[in-house]
Amino acid sequence: MSPNTIESVLQEERLFSPPVSFSKNARIKTWEAYQELYEKARSDPESFWAEIAERELHWFKKWDKVLDWKPPFAQWFVGGQLNLCYNCLDRHLDGDRRDKPALIWEGEPGDCRIITYAQLHREVCEMANALKHLGVRKGDRVGIYLPMIPEAAIAMLACARIGAPHTVVFGGFSAEALKDRLLDANAKVLITADGGWRKEDIVHLKQQVDRALADDKVPSIEHVIVVRRTGHPIHIEPGRDLWWDDLQEEASDQCPAEPMDSEDPSFILYTSGTTGKPKGVVHTTGGYNLYTHLTTQWVFDLQENDVFWCTADVGWITGHSYIVYGPLSNGATILMYEGAPRPSNPGCLWDLIEKHRVTIFYTAPTAIRLFIKMGEELPKARDLSSLRLLGTVGEPINPSAWMWYHRVIGGERCPIVDTWWQTETGGIMITPLPGVTKTKPGSATFPFPGIIADVVDLDGNPVGENQGGYLVIKYPWPSMIRTVYKNPDRYRSTYWENIPPKNGEYMYFTGDGARRDRDGYLWVMGRIDDVINVAGHRLGTMEVESALVSHPAVAEAAVVGKPSELKGEEIIAFITLEDSYTPSEELKKELKNRVVEEIGALARPEDIQFCEALPKTRSGKIVRRLLRSLAAGEEVTGDTSTLEDRSVLDRLRNV
Ligand code: ATP
Ligand code: MG
Repeated sequence: MSPNTIESVLQEERLFSPPVSFSKNARIKTWEAYQELYEKARSDPESFWAEIAERELHWFKKWDKVLDWKPPFAQWFVGGQLNLCYNCLDRHLDGDRRDKPALIWEGEPGDCRIITYAQLHREVCEMANALKHLGVRKGDRVGIYLPMIPEAAIAMLACARIGAPHTVVFGGFSAEALKDRLLDANAKVLITADGGWRKEDIVHLKQQVDRALADDKVPSIEHVIVVRRTGHPIHIEPGRDLWWDDLQEEASDQCPAEPMDSEDPSFILYTSGTTGKPKGVVHTTGGYNLYTHLTTQWVFDLQENDVFWCTADVGWITGHSYIVYGPLSNGATILMYEGAPRPSNPGCLWDLIEKHRVTIFYTAPTAIRLFIKMGEELPKARDLSSLRLLGTVGEPINPSAWMWYHRVIGGERCPIVDTWWQTETGGIMITPLPGVTKTKPGSATFPFPGIIADVVDLDGNPVGENQGGYLVIKYPWPSMIRTVYKNPDRYRSTYWENIPPKNGEYMYFTGDGARRDRDGYLWVMGRIDDVINVAGHRLGTMEVESALVSHPAVAEAAVVGKPSELKGEEIIAFITLEDSYTPSEELKKELKNRVVEEIGALARPEDIQFCEALPKTRSGKIVRRLLRSLAAGEEVTGDTSTLEDRSVLDRLRNV
């Protein structure tokens, strides 16, 4: 076994074909059609992308050159001019879509707004004018720190309209994390709200803003725009803070969309920080617009009457690409929900599907694990028959969670698209196409047309069938990261130098481990940083965890390596249990046996720790690097600023 690769130990043989009735009406109907598209994009990427860009987007000025690739820096549609907001709104106003709902929004307290394309356009123009009035010019950065309310989408689109890159900071982040991001982005204006609703409680956003900006800690910020949401008393800093509704009232609703160069930045977004300090990922305009537009269409098989619900927060890339830009560029109807499952009505998400006849539902494994924990009675008590397609993103999904999603939410009739991608990739990269791809639970299946994915060793050589290695992308794609903001060196070293170019071919390093099975399916095995080395066997976290999660007692599992003189590392598993189970030595033994049965003795956890919760990022991903320090008995020294709940760590220390 080469030290360069990862061993695969778990077999998953189940296979699910798309329902015939789904394929018949799908945008891409046959496997041959996918292969043809894939082959066309592979052999002549520039004409492939140029044709689609021409057909699908509105350009103020056509490009001179499709791709300028000076590794590791790519430019797409060089010389072309367009506007992301124009493509999302203005071009839908001429026909039937004018009065079509663009955004259906549900607040936690039960308030609901339905905003048509024409109305959204008007509100966006007003806010764009308000920003201009405050001195925001093309190229100035605007911070957005909002709950999941329509104003979040309006603010983003307003920035795009005037060419001011936004940096959206997830509304659950602390003052400290907000300050760091505003400082790094050097933002001129910040858009926030008095508060937001989450789990029937107020999230005090404005208070965090006041803390983040106190003592002029972020000197670049000139104004704070405050949306009135919760209506509770807040501090208003004279001269700095302004109410959103006042500004909107004063502003004209006519605001031309600024022609942007294709390569002008559209936004900066910080990664989730699962592996360390977050990176400020820079995306640009033309390629990003095109790729999110096309992936929304093909991956979600978007049809005119769909109601598309992506449950991510707009503070993550998933929210950027598949709540706002991708769906709106296609003239779709999106659903947006302010909060989380509410204590008084934990099934409220299913109520929304029933009420609004949602057809496409896109969520994360962490949410699915929560749904499983809450029990299938909740979804079963609602009418979910409007659903026709399900999606997941964010982490590898354990096959048992996939099966639950398929059975309970999808009623065994909805294809599931397990979409692998990253903040850096801008859009979905590896995914089934729902009308044509036979799915295997836990596999993201095949690359999207135009994406040349491979699994290689550290020297860049492709590894064999079922051998785990490093997931890389071998050719630029339109929505790829352009650089790390103000830090091109970090861009180069993080993504392009871990694996040396081979025969002039540069490889984008994803940081994830993967394998390809005998049918060519790609399986993401977890992060490279989290690989465990037991007696010379390098194991990915996903497979060992999947064996544990397949036991009915286990809600969530995270495995890490603990240094061992004998074996190099031994496996320690952190487990949260389903409500009806209690920790016991007996159960530990049973779980260890489960791993031995499913995988073999080499993956047998040396120890199992039951805990109430696992440390997660604010975007819901399990942070194994901190568990690794805990298991080793070390001080936890890594970056903890992106943790959802720091007290989880303290509680784990006392186990
Ligand atoms: P950081 O880069 O700061 O450590 P992060 O990688 O968690 O944080 P994101 O860009 O939000 O930041 O997440 C992308 C990562 O999420 C991928 O690299 C992969 O590890 C994981 N991921 C996303 N979707 C999937 C999926 N469908 N299957 C497996 N893993 C996935
Ligand atoms: Mg990452």
